[in-house]
Amino acid sequence: MKEFWSSRIRGIVPYTPGEQPRGRTFIKLNTNENPYGPSPAVVAAIGRETGDSLRLYPDPEATELRQAAARFYDLTPEEIFVGNGSDEVLAFAFQAFFEPGKTIAFPDITYSFYPVYADLFGILYDRIPLKEDFTLPVERYCGGEYAGVVVCNPNAPTGIQLPLTEIERIIRANPAVVVLVDEAYIDFGGESALGFIRQYPNVLVVQTMSKSRSLAGMRVGLAFGNPNLIAGLNAVKNSFNSYTLDRLAIAAGTAALEDREYFQETRSRVIATRERTVDSLREMGFLVHPSCSNFLFASHPQVPAQWLQQALRERGILVRYFNQPRIDNYLRISIGTEADMETFCREVAALLQKRGSV
Ligand code: PMP
Repeated sequence: MKEFWSSRIRGIVPYTPGEQPRGRTFIKLNTNENPYGPSPAVVAAIGRETGDSLRLYPDPEATELRQAAARFYDLTPEEIFVGNGSDEVLAFAFQAFFEPGKTIAFPDITYSFYPVYADLFGILYDRIPLKEDFTLPVERYCGGEYAGVVVCNPNAPTGIQLPLTEIERIIRANPAVVVLVDEAYIDFGGESALGFIRQYPNVLVVQTMSKSRSLAGMRVGLAFGNPNLIAGLNAVKNSFNSYTLDRLAIAAGTAALEDREYFQETRSRVIATRERTVDSLREMGFLVHPSCSNFLFASHPQVPAQWLQQALRERGILVRYFNQPRIDNYLRISIGTEADMETFCREVAALLQKRGSV
């Protein structure tokens, strides 16, 4: 079956993305997409790139996009790297900054792509257990024994944010190695570590346009760091693929960064809907962790999460379930539109009633 595969690839267990259903319309609350479309300016910008220009290669440095990001974040383009989704940016960062055969640290419960990248590149890792309440035991990351650290903030799939002072503690305790801060969900209420990149040469902040800017389908990820780290990422990228972002992605990402008003409005809407959904779920008896992201992590003491996920699926609603120790009675629920979440809460209430759990 795996004839001809290299020994490294034979042993790999790839990441499994959330379901993208075909042939039936679901309320999709399973992959943390934004329920609102991208800015109309993005659609117009893509339209301008769909003619004759497609015969030309895109700008390998995505200068226009990096300049727009520099304006938005008040940085220089030399402090910014862009890639084909933040998954690619993370993969490049693992290759650029972590050493095969040496051990890096990340939590036991976090974005499940990290161990996959580490395995792919032969990097060893310790999965440090989160505390009982799913917060990060910061001191475990501060002993100076790791060849790199990865923290996702706010964490996925819990939505819990680690205070910036704690992130800074980790950065300061690991001056000789890179601390990678994955801020995929930062725009939904978290505090970004971006302000640290000029102070600490060992911090790389990774963000995405897939969530708060509604561009999951375009694949645009960003990294921010000292120009030395950015040059490291470029060395990996330019040894792999000169054109990781196509013309449409560069145009779309640039326009999304320029439409500040749309960004503010849609993310505020998601946050407001999230808070209303937290209240409704708690009223129904769910334990819901405080979330700084566009999803909720919730568990019901009487109703098995896996049963609920299946029952919701039959009713046309997709949520994410992880069959994994410690979190196998939780659902991760992405925040949809106000109407989506009203339907979701109504269906959940009906299911609880059916099981006699209200
Ligand atoms: N980091 C985290 C924590 C995520 O949840 C995701 C989305 N699955 C990503 C990175 C990657 O997002 P993208 O590749 O769409 O930018």
